[in-house]
Amino acid sequence: MSDCLFCKIAAGEVPSTKVYEDEYVYAFNDIDPKAPFHVIVIPKKHIGSADEIDSSNSAEIAHVFEAIAKIAKQEKLENGYRVVNNCGEDGGQTVHHIHFHLLARRNLAWPPG
Ligand code: 5GP
Ligand code: ZN
Repeated sequence: MSDCLFCKIAAGEVPSTKVYEDEYVYAFNDIDPKAPFHVIVIPKKHIGSADEIDSSNSAEIAHVFEAIAKIAKQEKLENGYRVVNNCGEDGGQTVHHIHFHLLARRNLAWPPG
């Protein structure tokens, strides 16, 4: 998607602070962190939201979760972390390329607001 911010970040056309990258996944620091550790993890392939996951693209999501487990070890998140996906308007999604917030290094309230 030529006008998608996270496609541009994955392609290096918009700068970001990379935390992890492989063939399928890119992860970078959130520009407005909600926790001391706040990384955005995305599939390089454009998927608009969780609502668009189906059998044709679910492998991309599996790669994201494999990457999250690697990032947690790489960044030594031994005390735990939270993975958040905001989907659609009521879910609070503002960037329409599916992404998973990886939050850590503070005690995260449950249930979330
Ligand atoms: P959403 O609200 O869609 O779940 O999350 C979008 C996230 O992307 C927000 O946490 C926001 O701070 C982050 N974000 C938006 N624009 C940029 C950007 O240009 N660079 C980076 N690194 N993060 C961004
Ligand atoms: Zn995109």
